[in-house]
Amino acid sequence: MKNENLARIARECDVFLLDMDGTVYLGERPIGDMQNTLQKMRGAGKSIVYLTNNSSKSAEEYIRKLDRLHFWDERDSVYTSGMAAAEYLKETHAGKRVYLVGTEALREEFLRAGIALCEESPDVCVLAYDTALTFEKIRKCNEFLVKGAFYVATHPDAVCPADGVSWPDVGSFLKLFETSCKRLPDVICGKPYTVMGDCVRRKLSAPKERIVMVGDRLNTDIRFGVNNGFRTLLVLSGEATAEQAETSCDRAEAVAESLNEIAEYL
Ligand SMILES: [Mg+2]
Repeated sequence: MKNENLARIARECDVFLLDMDGTVYLGERPIGDMQNTLQKMRGAGKSIVYLTNNSSKSAEEYIRKLDRLHFWDERDSVYTSGMAAAEYLKETHAGKRVYLVGTEALREEFLRAGIALCEESPDVCVLAYDTALTFEKIRKCNEFLVKGAFYVATHPDAVCPADGVSWPDVGSFLKLFETSCKRLPDVICGKPYTVMGDCVRRKLSAPKERIVMVGDRLNTDIRFGVNNGFRTLLVLSGEATAEQAETSCDRAEAVAESLNEIAEYL
């Protein structure tokens, strides 16, 4: 049976924003013949942008993984919530002093973007996915937030998928600071919010209605697409089930078993 909604997306969209885990791979395992599907999409003139909320890694680290899985092509790009946070700060808090709770990879990314990082008296605190988090960083961030620093979080995910038990992610740390200093972020950059969507769209020359967000999570990927005015494609190769797709308040324009299904319509 023909998937009319998927066919329409294949026909009308030029830019495919792809979530990674659950959408193109599961951990280290490609989903079906994804390499071939991606190649077919490029052949049909589609642009591929890999989009992730994970701000612990740099774009280069993701490119290395995608390359290892044969998912990478020079025409593709990678965008992380950490990159969106750096761009947001440049746009709206130019020249301000920033305290970053984040990995070395993100620190380098911020410095490359020309952001003035500091260890004392910041104007802005950025909470990213810091897999080298220490009590000292928590203590300092808490102090700066209590003293009124502007509060930016890279993304809201409570946990990060991992083999076995999932890892605590930024959303869990937001709860910690909510408890310790009674503050919620002034801005959250990643999915499902609009900061990362605005950043990506500025880099592309496509109108919103020709951009589609493809992902396996309803309340992050699909809600991100809707919040940003993009088209949406939910894939059932990861977290969301067919039943959730039908009953959730987050509705995707099209639903497919996996992204591989789109190859039929290109
Ligand atoms: Mg996912």
